[in-house]
Amino acid sequence: MQRTLSIVKPDGVQKNLIGEVISRFEKKGLRIKALKMLHVTKEQAKKFYIVHKEKPFYDDLTNFLSEGPIVVMVIEGEDAIAKVRETMGATNPKEAAPGTIRADFATDIERNIVHGSDSPESAAYEIPFFFSAVEIMD
Ligand code: UDP
Ligand code: MG
Repeated sequence: MQRTLSIVKPDGVQKNLIGEVISRFEKKGLRIKALKMLHVTKEQAKKFYIVHKEKPFYDDLTNFLSEGPIVVMVIEGEDAIAKVRETMGATNPKEAAPGTIRADFATDIERNIVHGSDSPESAAYEIPFFFSAVEIMD
């Protein structure tokens, strides 16, 4: 069993896709172990995406993540990290496989609806960023 963090980003919430995103994960046999909606500040977005601090898109990305409410969730299952990433599709929706969340709904490489941890190391940073131990169901 593996745990990962996923986010319905502000564009996904705005487009009324919270249920759609969760449903796609559930249909893959993954289980939601924690869930909440919140609106992060620019400073919190910068801290969450600290791995990208040297990237040219860091400022725009952190403005985007803090522009409106998001839904954050802990997802559990066998190979949960890879399964969530497969369900999301490639970062750039033009390169995302047909039937993935990003191919179906994303606007562009930035406004791409959904986040998923890319490794056990990033999940270990991202899950406690949003959830305390008592908020994650056993
Ligand atoms: N992003 C962007 N421009 C890029 C690459 C990424 O705006 O050239 C944004 C996009 O929202 C992406 C996020 O930054 O989801 C994090 O980038 P990463 O490479 O980690 O992609 P992901 O893991 O989300 O597929
Ligand atoms: Mg990433």
